[in-house]
Amino acid sequence: MVGVNTPMSWQGEATVSETPQTEFDVLILGGGSGGYATALRAAQLGMTVGLVEESKLGGTCLHNGCIPTKALLHAAEVADTAREGASIGVETSLGGIDMVKVNSYKQGIIDRLHKGLTGLVKSRNVTVIEGRGTLSGPDTIEVNGTHYRGKNLVLATGSYSRTLPGLTIEGRVITSDEALEMSSVPSSVIVLGGGVIGVEFASVWSSFGTDVTVVEGLPHLVPQEEPAISKTLERAFRKRGIAFKTGVRFQGVTQHDSGVSVTLEDGTTLEAEYLLVAVGRGPRTEGLGYEEAGIRMDRGFVLTDERLHTGVGQIYAVGDIVPGLQLAHRGFQQGIFVAEEIAGLAPASIIEKHIPRVTYCEPEVASVGLTEAEARELHGEAVSSVEYNLGGNGKSQILGTAGFIKLVRVADGPVVGVHMIGSRVGEQIGEAQLIVSWDAHPEDVASLVHAHPTQNEALGEAHLALAGKPLHAHD
Ligand SMILES: Cc1cc2nc3c(=O)[nH]c(=O)nc-3n(C[C@H](O)[C@H](O)[C@H](O)COP(=O)(O)OP(=O)(O)OC[C@H]3O[C@@H](n4cnc5c(N)ncnc54)[C@H](O)[C@@H]3O)c2cc1C
Repeated sequence: MVGVNTPMSWQGEATVSETPQTEFDVLILGGGSGGYATALRAAQLGMTVGLVEESKLGGTCLHNGCIPTKALLHAAEVADTAREGASIGVETSLGGIDMVKVNSYKQGIIDRLHKGLTGLVKSRNVTVIEGRGTLSGPDTIEVNGTHYRGKNLVLATGSYSRTLPGLTIEGRVITSDEALEMSSVPSSVIVLGGGVIGVEFASVWSSFGTDVTVVEGLPHLVPQEEPAISKTLERAFRKRGIAFKTGVRFQGVTQHDSGVSVTLEDGTTLEAEYLLVAVGRGPRTEGLGYEEAGIRMDRGFVLTDERLHTGVGQIYAVGDIVPGLQLAHRGFQQGIFVAEEIAGLAPASIIEKHIPRVTYCEPEVASVGLTEAEARELHGEAVSSVEYNLGGNGKSQILGTAGFIKLVRVADGPVVGVHMIGSRVGEQIGEAQLIVSWDAHPEDVASLVHAHPTQNEALGEAHLALAGKPLHAHD
């Protein structure tokens, strides 16, 4: 409740001063994807909500993650289109990349979205508390000396760019945060880490004309994906001139005036203007009072049950601080879930394996559900799969992209995994997600009509093949 004071001044004039609200039904620490989604849904459900944020509403995703990287990837796509126009008879050429203008295009998108989000949060009567908060009791968060109380607390403090032991981020050794602020296109970059963030930056810079080498300790790029997807991405990167070294670990880096010298454990030395460290993201939980409150932690992550409850009082956690996929849409969904749980709506638990994953490099990688190996581990030999090559898909040919869709099913049962690679396949993840989440059988999907000529048709064709009646596919 907003406290309203109406003291009479000695002059007899009535003055009204508002005492800041310090008690809420739901009090959230962190206003990123997970935190603000919790706030919006809780407010929608009629609860009073306080949202503590020390920086900008929207968090990593809006300011340093999803949105700025996808803006750069779009600029990269435009550069590639300009470069390749002549090959299809459109006389274009790439004059150059003006990073100042690219950055202002990117910032314009962020600013518009940030303004929209700020307005939305305000319109739902969420109280935004500016400052750094720490958990100071089972129902209390302290911000700048004021103690705010919540009947329910939600921890959503997100993540930061990790580095390796002994590898200091400074000068020419940068993380994605610095990479997003560069005012010119680097001539060469070594990207340490061939996961999502690493390959997205490699893709952008390569399109902008940078010499890129990706170093990945595991045997393949995007190692969390189906092995065939990784191999196809590696082939595509090779064709694009993006160098990579896999299965070899980083040893050390030295910096000099014009660049970095990186040594690998196999004795190789690589030289470049910058080293981008993209080795994953750590939970931002240190020094926030979580452990002191008795919350169970694992290497800095907050452990919860499947209802996202920490096991302490009425404290929940959402987003990147909870072990699992560090994705914005997971945070949103967890936020909605927790708000509904607090409201007593008993929402269905979120199935981590049903969360779609998209890597927005060129070509894109998109997947949902189990890999074939994971499905075999769960279901034994009763697993089959099919790969539909985008070579047979008209729209993919028009776009000049190669790739495939792989489906994994349980015999006489549902499709449990969809794995795609090719330009723009991320846009197909919506249908793929419905198929896997709703336990669709290939026969169910095969009978649906997919519009021609779209890349979406390839999903339909893959299901036709899995249902034993391939149409545009060679036997
Ligand atoms: C380069 C990059 C690209 C990415 N691309 C994608 C993508 O394409 N798609 C996708 O789904 N995900 C992407 N992600 C991941 C996505 O950004 C995160 O999964 C998401 O932001 C996590 O949301 P969150 O709410 O858990 O944390 P965050 O977004 O990190 O928000 C946490 C918030 O809490 C605030 N905070 C922290 N501590 C305190 C404190 N003590 N007091 C007050 N406030 C505090 C922070 O300022 C921040 O605003 C990307 C990430 C990066 C780095």
